[in-house]
Amino acid sequence: MYTRVVPAQCIACGLCQLKAPELFSYDEEGIAYVKLDNNQGTAPIPVALRAQFKEAYTNCPTGAILRQNQPFTAAQRQKSDQDPDLNDLQHH
Ligand code: SF4
Repeated sequence: MYTRVVPAQCIACGLCQLKAPELFSYDEEGIAYVKLDNNQGTAPIPVALRAQFKEAYTNCPTGAILRQNQPFTAAQRQKSDQDPDLNDLQHH
């Protein structure tokens, strides 16, 4: 499983870093990103971190955390960052 944060949807609430400190960190403005691969969504989430990932993913108040079974492509990154409303379709 792969994950990344859509910066435009993140409200810098701090919750994901609280739930999954080994997966998420923040830039200077408090916007979250995935530490594994600098938010590219190309590094698989280690099995040992899946539980904390689920906590962060299910509790993010804005749905800014995406997940999918394949690595995120450059086109997917560009699309979700430019048109964040589309992410609701991927978010269950
Ligand atoms: S939980 Fe969601 S909104 Fe809050 S900091 Fe993390 S990605 Fe941003």
